[in-house]
Amino acid sequence: MKPDDLDERFLGTEAGERAYRAATERAVDAAVDATDTEEPFSGVEPDAVRAALPDDVLPESGVGLDAAIDEVADDVLSNTVNASHPRTAAHLHCPPMVPGLAAETMVAATNQSLDSYDQSGAATVVEERLVGTLGDLFGLDEGADGVVTSGGTQSNFQALLLARDRYCLERFDHDVQAAGLPSEAEDLRLVCSAEAHFTGEQSAHHLGLGHDAVVTVETDDDHRMDADALDETLARLDADGKEVFAVVGTAGTTDFGAIDPLDALAERAAAHDAWFHVDAAFGGALALTDDADRLAGVERADSVSVDFHKLFFQPISCGALLVAERGEFGYAARNDDYLNPADSALPNLVWKSTQTTRRFDALKPYLAFRALGREGFETVVETVLTTANRAATLLDSSPDFTLLAEPSLNTVLFRYEPRELSDDDLDALNTAAREALFRDGRAVLARTEVDGVEALKLTLMNPLTTLDDVADTLDALRDVAEDIDAGTLTARDA
Ligand SMILES: *Cc1c(COP(=O)(O)O)cnc(C)c1O
Repeated sequence: MKPDDLDERFLGTEAGERAYRAATERAVDAAVDATDTEEPFSGVEPDAVRAALPDDVLPESGVGLDAAIDEVADDVLSNTVNASHPRTAAHLHCPPMVPGLAAETMVAATNQSLDSYDQSGAATVVEERLVGTLGDLFGLDEGADGVVTSGGTQSNFQALLLARDRYCLERFDHDVQAAGLPSEAEDLRLVCSAEAHFTGEQSAHHLGLGHDAVVTVETDDDHRMDADALDETLARLDADGKEVFAVVGTAGTTDFGAIDPLDALAERAAAHDAWFHVDAAFGGALALTDDADRLAGVERADSVSVDFHKLFFQPISCGALLVAERGEFGYAARNDDYLNPADSALPNLVWKSTQTTRRFDALKPYLAFRALGREGFETVVETVLTTANRAATLLDSSPDFTLLAEPSLNTVLFRYEPRELSDDDLDALNTAAREALFRDGRAVLARTEVDGVEALKLTLMNPLTTLDDVADTLDALRDVAEDIDAGTLTARDA
């Protein structure tokens, strides 16, 4: 005998459909409330959350779905960071756009798995179309292909995995997939700029090469990899008998949004038979704008990482890895009888991915591209770039702030310097002010280090953020900093 309430637990029956619609409506109401708040963050401390959540996550009998949703709305959502708030400006953490949210609903309810055609049908073809479109957008050749990933971390890892394995096969006639690392592995090096993302080092570790396999190249005054320094580095590595298997260019560094001279890097990588990977997780969206030529050289890449959950404004998580030659995915591919037998005529995308079961995240950018078109996207991206430029002008004209760099993308680096203080005290003041502001909840901004000093960072991801919102953020910072000034620093100075 089937328990009475089983029908309403699943889609596929009238009771289930009713329950799904009702629960979704309740969930949507809760989500809308959580994204329409006065302040970006409640400032809640982790211990307060721990105390508020029920101890028994798994009670013997459940509280019912309505009550569980209400509980989550009250105890959890109200204490999350509102990514859609105009004063949330810390990380590359976007307000998700409505088409992406609508897609997410369909992704969840239809629950397709992109590893095999027999778990996804048309969804597989949508992903093929999407990565094809992306390849065209970056000017890759006809033979290019791609796969949807969880984001830049996974994309960069897979790119470097393919790079290492191609290099070992071509250079040492060694098949890493079958035989593991070759005896020459300790000489393998990957070259990137000193401001490249940490996932390069992380990948080197995961690939069995270690952080020491990453050789960083100095950047110029604009924080771009210096091509002359790259030449010197490569010459030195050659002289030392090192094996450079990959050159990584960054299109949009995390702090400065700097874009490496990709053409120059492509040339050096080709001369060294090294894989040329472009990490465009952040800056890839420029391809949608009039400034696409700032990415010149990306079309020569062996692989490109793109994050849809950054400047493409899709809900987390959503990224892609493109490769210039479809067959290159083969270095990490395998066939398994139950999932993608070698003789299957169907497109089973599992061979291109480091995941097995995989979400239909492709639908988010696909639906958004169809809905907005390139022009619609360009407007959104250019809006945040313009806001960043205006914010920089505002900071530059405020006597108590120092602008540390002209924005390249939508990050703005600055320092709060309200009066004569030692560098150490200014560092301490900026650190403490940012922490106090986060706890205060009126604005969320980030910290980083620039040339050895503590810096503050606005990452202006919200197209609805106005210059007034930026001014309010700076005022909130002044407010909380005043209290710190009066307390710790003055006391320490005295
Ligand atoms: C965000 C980012 C990453 C990491 O990507 P995730 O999507 O967070 O996994 C890597 N590289 C760059 C340049 C990034 O901006």
